[in-house]
Amino acid sequence: MADLSGRVAVVTGSGRGIGQCVAIELARRGAKVVTNDLSGCCAEDTLAEIRQNGGEGLAITADVSDAQQVEDMMKTVADTFGKIDILVNNAGTTRDNLMMRMPEADWDLILRVNLKSAWLCSKAVLRPMMRNRYGRIVNMTSVSGIAGQAGQTNYSASKAGLIGMTKALAREVASRSITVNAVAPGFIKTMLTENLPQDILDTLVNQIPLGRWGTVEDVAAAVAFLASDEASYITGHVLSVDGGLVMG
Ligand code: NAD
Repeated sequence: MADLSGRVAVVTGSGRGIGQCVAIELARRGAKVVTNDLSGCCAEDTLAEIRQNGGEGLAITADVSDAQQVEDMMKTVADTFGKIDILVNNAGTTRDNLMMRMPEADWDLILRVNLKSAWLCSKAVLRPMMRNRYGRIVNMTSVSGIAGQAGQTNYSASKAGLIGMTKALAREVASRSITVNAVAPGFIKTMLTENLPQDILDTLVNQIPLGRWGTVEDVAAAVAFLASDEASYITGHVLSVDGGLVMG
């Protein structure tokens, strides 16, 4: 298991689902973890679980698609811990609809919450990471950003955008020993996917070579690896965690 002792990590949208599991996993490996979510109680809940397991951290309520709130959050982290080693841009949401029926507001919202937030958070941590000549940025993309998904033109575009940003930033900061990678989950059981109708769930599982939905633990293990020293020669990479759904 990759050791993250002494590292300071920020995980956005970590009040529940994948982000929560990532935050708990990074803490289990020794990192001090800043949990974040739109609602204070969710970020606090995750932090409480981290503390129960003997870990350390801080909970910050902030909308990571808002520039001022991101700036304030990262300043609080730097003031509290003196550095930021790991950033996991996990916060994301969906507003699915066929393009013909999709309101422009839903396009704007998804691009802001899923893509601009990662740009804002990454920009805010670059200076401290460059100063330390160390950093790990992991962006949560999706199979929808690689293969596209009907009903998700907004979401797929935001997740494809994250992949482009991951590769461009990886090139910009590699000389400072900062790596930038993405994790592309397939279908993972969380509140984001719980409302899919059973017939669609059955069809989806039949398309997955490993024959099952993914778990939040599957995704957290991949993020923890990319956030560790063991992944120091990996940058600009998109690691699929999808049971073989999208290959190549
Ligand atoms: P989720 O809805 O269970 O959790 C997302 C969390 O992000 C929520 O707690 C939410 O409040 C928070 N959040 C949303 N907007 C925010 C904002 N502006 N600022 C701060 N926090 C915000 O979803 P999940 O399934 O855990 O998904 C986590 C990430 O993984 C998302 O980026 C999602 O697109 C991606 N993903 C999920 C799946 C899946 O099958 N569940 C597949 C591929 C990718």
